[in-house]
Amino acid sequence: NQFELLGLDETLLNAINDMGFETPSEVQEKAIPVLLSQKTDMVALAQTGTGKTAAFGFPLIQKINAKDKTTQGLILSPTRELCLQIASELKNYSKYVKDLNVVAIYGGASITDQAKKVKRGAQVIVATPGRMQDMINRSLVDITKIEYCVLDEADEMLNMGFYEDIKSILSHTPREKSTWLFSATMPKEVHQIAKKFMSKPFEITV
Ligand code: AMP
Repeated sequence: NQFELLGLDETLLNAINDMGFETPSEVQEKAIPVLLSQKTDMVALAQTGTGKTAAFGFPLIQKINAKDKTTQGLILSPTRELCLQIASELKNYSKYVKDLNVVAIYGGASITDQAKKVKRGAQVIVATPGRMQDMINRSLVDITKIEYCVLDEADEMLNMGFYEDIKSILSHTPREKSTWLFSATMPKEVHQIAKKFMSKPFEITV
């Protein structure tokens, strides 16, 4: 299995084998070794279907300390469907990692139920910006110690008018963290986000 060459550890490789992935896609080959070995920001120009979820998901799962219940990773994604899909993929990737909890947070469902799941200990939160902002306002989440922030489908989030939410959510996160931005297109607005919230990002295009 060619994933062995990327620096992933045994627990992830076993999950990858179970999923039947044999060869890394281009974005995975370019992103995974960098994200595993460097504490860097990243801007990746990649469409849906290119395997981008695993490109950020594998390194994220490997970097999280599952022994610590603190929320360490935050993924912002434009829609409820995408949040659920990403959360479900991350749960697959981490099936052999003991005590790692991934919680999805999105609008149109009970905020109380989502808050309960977060309270039990969510090392990784996958959220839509609106619901995330709402939960921050009500002090139902604590993202002040996150080390990894993924902005997935950044162009879509901006198209949907989430700029202010994203800006405000990021203002609650530590300055010292790694931010990984994935987008299918790079309009001016996405560049502005990258410029404002990231430092010297490693750039990838597929
Ligand atoms: P994504 O672009 O992350 O939405 O992934 C698209 C689809 O490709 C998903 O169903 C993944 O499970 C699958 N996939 C991702 N990476 C690989 C890979 N290296 N080999 C086979 N399938 C993959």
